[in-house]
Amino acid sequence: MRTCLYIVVPCYNEEACIDLTASILGQEKLSQLVLNGIISQDSRILFINDGSTDKTWEKIVNLHNKNPDLYSGLSLTRNRGHQNALLAGLMYARTKADVVISMDADLQDDVNAIDKMLEKYFNGSDIVYGVRSSRKKDSFFKRFTAESFYKFMSWCGVDIVFNHADFRLMSRKSLDKLSEFKEVNLFLRAIVPLIGYKTSSVYYKREERKAGESKYPLKKMLSFAIEGITSFSDKPIRYITKLGLLVFCLSIIMLIYSCVNWYRGETVIGWASIICSIWALGGMVLFCMGVIGEYIGKIYLETKHRPPYFISEIIDKDE
Ligand code: UDP
Ligand code: MG
Repeated sequence: MRTCLYIVVPCYNEEACIDLTASILGQEKLSQLVLNGIISQDSRILFINDGSTDKTWEKIVNLHNKNPDLYSGLSLTRNRGHQNALLAGLMYARTKADVVISMDADLQDDVNAIDKMLEKYFNGSDIVYGVRSSRKKDSFFKRFTAESFYKFMSWCGVDIVFNHADFRLMSRKSLDKLSEFKEVNLFLRAIVPLIGYKTSSVYYKREERKAGESKYPLKKMLSFAIEGITSFSDKPIRYITKLGLLVFCLSIIMLIYSCVNWYRGETVIGWASIICSIWALGGMVLFCMGVIGEYIGKIYLETKHRPPYFISEIIDKDE
């Protein structure tokens, strides 16, 4: 029996892009793979509507009505963010497909890398990472912040594939294991390496967004990065403890130094130095409390076990 492939595409306000994506991914790529006998005829493109406020869902329904053999869709009850939308798609697709590829709706990921991913899958890999070999088309700012983030994550001891985002192939076996992770703070690119099995990478050039605007402004990007770091590493808290110890040692040295000065009769009326240290220490204490607060917030959310998403509609030929 041939392999059934689902390509999962999370979409948030992608009305400008979705028709082009559907045609390149579905009519061209998926149809060709079916025609060449690489994948089975019940393979699909699965769009996840992440609570879009524009015509994205109408367009997905339209695509399905015109070509139910090629396009399916899930709609979430509201916007839950890229990672949750992706998870909803992956968890649905694992009940249907043998192998699932996730990619963005803006065609920044190279469609032709899909062939290489499937080849690696047929050669025994359960997880294949799409890795950006070049991101020249990204702005300098995006490239710099993104690459610094990957380096910082590695430095924090998190097992993360450099320059890999969420363009990846996963076999049903590995998706079943993914479903056993119950955390609410989702950061898939660091969870997937924890699964294990045979993995490999496919390299591709990151292209420009084909239409529409990025749904990841700086604010969202920053909170995503903080999410990633604090979900997978307790190193920042450790460094805070070490920093506290260092400042304490410094204050002891300063105390001895002041006593010596006082003994020598060299007491200086130092207003500036006192004010500076108050500000510096105050800032540091606030920052450290913030980092600890981040972790406490995480624990708070995890203990609630809130469901990460609700599906309001499913359009799939066999449903
Ligand atoms: N996305 C989503 N929910 C959101 C934000 C984004 O499903 O709340 C989707 C979006 O439609 C796209 C993917 O996540 O398919 C990546 O977003 P985008 O391309 O805007 O991010 P960038 O490439 O600029 O980092
Ligand atoms: Mg993009």
